This record gives sequence, structure tokens and C-alpha cells, in this order.
Amino acid sequence: MSKEVTFSIIKPNAVKKGVIGNIIEQFENAGLKIAAAKLTVISRKKCEEFYAEHKERPFFGELVDFMTSGPVVLMALSGEGAVLKNREIMGATDPKKAAPGTIRAKHGDSVGENAVHGSG
Ligand code: GDP
Repeated sequence: MSKEVTFSIIKPNAVKKGVIGNIIEQFENAGLKIAAAKLTVISRKKCEEFYAEHKERPFFGELVDFMTSGPVVLMALSGEGAVLKNREIMGATDPKKAAPGTIRAKHGDSVGENAVHGSG
């Protein structure tokens, strides 16, 4: 495996719950480094562009409302096989189906409010 960089977002529900530190700890414990990070509120326009692939899905409006509802943490994670590793640490989209110990199993509230985003 080679060194990769992948994009991650700690979503508004997780920031509100005060679990930024716990989530970052899970990434770091798995050998991923936080190469860049920024706490910010995403604009509606940027959010709609980012999730453009889901534009026709019935939950698109709900997704944009949620992702712009409060601060998020944007991060670049780097490390060996970072894309796959990030997916494993996050767990399945639906927290009820996510493997025990994954971020979404621990901190996700619903399929929409699932604590983290991972690209790739
Ligand atoms: P991911 O790659 O695991 O994040 O999953 P997807 O690319 O399929 O979906 C992107 C995001 O859309 C998910 O992380 C959820 O926040 C949201 N999403 C997916 N399915 C649903 C749904 O049925 N309802 C709502 N409200 N949001 C959803």
C-alpha cells in the first residue's frame, strides 16, 4: 500500500456533541495523521456543489440543511492506505449497520446525521 491523503469531515451533530477529540483520537490510533484541519460553517452553495452527485436523491435538501446547520471540521488525513483505512474507521453509512467500535456506530444518530464524511 502507498501513502495517500483523503478528505474527512466531522459533521455538525458530532461537533455539537463535543466528540471532535474522540474522533481525531480514533484516526490517530489507527495510524492516520491530521495533515490539515479547519473548523468552519459550510455555505449552502458550497455544500450543494460538494454533494452534487446526490442532487436527485429525495434526501438532498435534508442533507444540505443538516451539513450547513452548524460548524464542521474539515480535515486532510494522511497515511498508508488512508482512503480504505478511513472507510473502515468510519463504518457503514447507517450507524445501525456500522461495525461496533467504528465512529458512526459510536457517534452517529441516524443515516443522515452519521457523524463523519469520508471521500474516496
Ligand atoms: P457515505 O459515503 O457513507 O457517506 O454515503 P453516501 O455517499 O451514500 O451518502 C452521502 C451522505 O448522504 C451520507 O453520509 C448521509 O449523511 C446522507 N444520506 C445517505 N442516505 C441518506 C438517507 O436515506 N437520508 C438522509 N437524510 N441522508 C442520507
